[in-house]
Amino acid sequence: TTTGAVSGARRRIGVMGGTFDPIHHGHLVAASEVAHRFDLDDVVFVPTGEPWQKDTRRVSPAEDRYLMTVIATASNPRFSVSRVDIERDGPTYTLDTLKDLLRQQPDIDLYFITGADALEKILTWHGWEEMFGLASFVGVSRPGFELSDTHLAQIDDGRVHLLEIPALAISSTECRRRAAAGAPVWYLVPDGVVQYIAKRNLYRPEGSTRLDGT
Ligand code: ATP
Ligand code: MG
Repeated sequence: TTTGAVSGARRRIGVMGGTFDPIHHGHLVAASEVAHRFDLDDVVFVPTGEPWQKDTRRVSPAEDRYLMTVIATASNPRFSVSRVDIERDGPTYTLDTLKDLLRQQPDIDLYFITGADALEKILTWHGWEEMFGLASFVGVSRPGFELSDTHLAQIDDGRVHLLEIPALAISSTECRRRAAAGAPVWYLVPDGVVQYIAKRNLYRPEGSTRLDGT
């Protein structure tokens, strides 16, 4: 029916959703490792629109988070970035993300990649039962979270997978904190993202002036 049918196999696409404020090497290593272990053809990074469950802090403009994600993924031919969440009005729900991606490419199998911390909250997600019909879910370990402690140990329908990845104790929160304090974020985020943060003066206290790119 489509070009995908020529090769016979359905394309397997990873979906890495996140605020990406900023994107860092923890995200990139997780996506790379899941792609390897689950034999994925591509991974699509999907920056959130108006973030939900994060309304306690100001989030950088969607366009800045989108561009940092593009910069970070540009060198990998199997990584791409989707605007579906930032172009949808209102809070981002993973169910809408999956539906939009499947509408664009109906003949793909989706693997939604998320940290163990986020996976723990899966039962609170809007429409989680319907989501299980649209994608498989891969929960990746990250330092400080024990996979065995998740509620998901109880869900055993073959749609949820837990995967240990090389531990990278990097979080966007820590990157923002360092940038705000004038500490370097080199090697925590890709070089182009370091430079973009400096260029746009992201994460600096209101009114502060940047003197150098670090
Ligand atoms: P914040 O500190 O603002 O919460 P974050 O580092 O958790 O940011 P998000 O954009 O919230 O980044 O994360 C997107 C996804 O990547 C989430 O599923 C999160 O659990 C996962 N993730 C974040 N950091 C890592 C890491 N170091 N290793 C593995 N997965 C990670
Ligand atoms: Mg987080």
